[in-house]
Amino acid sequence: MTRKEGTRNANGRSSIYKSEADGRWHGWVTVGVKDNGKPDRRHVSGKDKTKVTDKVRKIERERDDGRVRVAGQKWTVEQWLNHWLSTIVAPPTITPNAHEAYEVAARVHLIPGVGAHRIDRLQPEHLERLYRKMVNNGAKPGRAHQVHRTIRAALNEAMRRKHISDNPALIARPPKVDEEEVEPYSVEDVRRILDAARTRRNSARWAVALALGLRQGEALGLMWSDVDLDAGTLYVMRSRVRPKWAHGCTTPCGRKQAGYCPSRVALRPETRRRSPVPGGEAWACRTRSSS
Ligand SMILES: [Zn+2]
Repeated sequence: MTRKEGTRNANGRSSIYKSEADGRWHGWVTVGVKDNGKPDRRHVSGKDKTKVTDKVRKIERERDDGRVRVAGQKWTVEQWLNHWLSTIVAPPTITPNAHEAYEVAARVHLIPGVGAHRIDRLQPEHLERLYRKMVNNGAKPGRAHQVHRTIRAALNEAMRRKHISDNPALIARPPKVDEEEVEPYSVEDVRRILDAARTRRNSARWAVALALGLRQGEALGLMWSDVDLDAGTLYVMRSRVRPKWAHGCTTPCGRKQAGYCPSRVALRPETRRRSPVPGGEAWACRTRSSS
């Protein structure tokens, strides 16, 4: 005698019973229909009847809220991040720079730190431990925040696709980012930066960025055609995109980084237009006061 089949309800209701074979309590919940047309039934078990009942109720609630996990998918954090980066958020769905930031956070921090966990078993504490470790090893809290935003976005997508029912990154607490990190430069700082920049090839890039508060990509993306010296205006039309290279050599050149390959091939356009503002154009800055 193993299971009491009679307690398993064929019309889709859950069943909870004690198996005499293993002395444990078992619960079954029908959550839908599988691709092959058979009922998709989830199984839980344990020594304690109350706990098994609680697990069954939890799956029922998830089913009723439409949050139950897809059958047969057991993604690890590493697999999910790689899948998410390569197929779900690959450009052009997001900008290359945003993708780069996600990719670095995944490769450098998330995969080595928590990549082996299954996404449905990842706990907020795993993430909090990772953030703490990063900061203890000298990373700025802002960097840990970037890692936090990355895993949050990746797991939100996993939740939307029903691979997980909860996102632990929504519960995990990222380290507090100090206000000091965005403290503006003093006039004296700016003078020293401009003095140092004067000795460099592209010093105007620093002067323009400091005076007008452009982002790095915007300052680097400026072209002479954007500047009207007579009118004293400057149009911020595009952003320089972080370059990405592939080897172009036919016989391997031996360089580890494709960017150093003598026949390197650009994988991205150099710039992208500023994200369009509804009904607007690129924004203009007055480069000098009209007085
Ligand atoms: Zn090469």
